[in-house]
Amino acid sequence: MRAMRGLGRITGAAAAIALTAGLVAPAGAAPVDYDIDSAHSLQVVVNKHRKLAPETYVPDRLTRVQSERLQAAAAEAFQGMTRAARADGVHIVPVSGYRSYAEQASLYDSYVRQYGQETADTIAARPGHSEHQTGLAMDVGNADGACALQDCFEGTPVGDWVRKNAHRHGFIVRYPEDRQEWTGYAYEPWHLRYVGPQLVAELRADAAAEGSAELDTLEEYFGLGPAPDYPAG
Ligand SMILES: [Zn+2]
Repeated sequence: MRAMRGLGRITGAAAAIALTAGLVAPAGAAPVDYDIDSAHSLQVVVNKHRKLAPETYVPDRLTRVQSERLQAAAAEAFQGMTRAARADGVHIVPVSGYRSYAEQASLYDSYVRQYGQETADTIAARPGHSEHQTGLAMDVGNADGACALQDCFEGTPVGDWVRKNAHRHGFIVRYPEDRQEWTGYAYEPWHLRYVGPQLVAELRADAAAEGSAELDTLEEYFGLGPAPDYPAG
């Protein structure tokens, strides 16, 4: 299965296997070929090995989400998710969405000054390498600030709700537990990434086919290889 997913698309013999397994739409449906390279793609994969191009990329349409901003499609999905959570009595607070190259540079530099570069690299992306710069990522919190940007966030009302429900709105928890070797980041139960409903459905179908409760990371799913650190030099 890993080789099939490694193609980043479903074609040929793999499509036949996937079809038999009930993972994809019946014959006639075009195989999905995601654009994971273009900065403007909703499925762009950015990590320590994959810098945005251009590195100063700015999304075309940024939409306000309270005090934060997201790309229009992600913003709309986020608002829908917020409403659904409200209906369950959970109040999702957008904490940090789009950040420009300059804002990311300033954030990263402040961490370097505070903790040194090695530690800074584990908690904030270098400018040009942040999902926040795509306008597709949002850090969320609880209204009372409980466990903000900490591991224990998972056990808070918002942490628990997004873990169970964010997928219904096209979002994934981008940096899952125990996947730092792949993503370059420790568990961040607050960092949600919009990838759209189709890719989420595929990630879930793939996990279900493997009998796993956890989704593959984007690095694993698209066969990109682990990106634990920045390349040397
Ligand atoms: Zn984040």
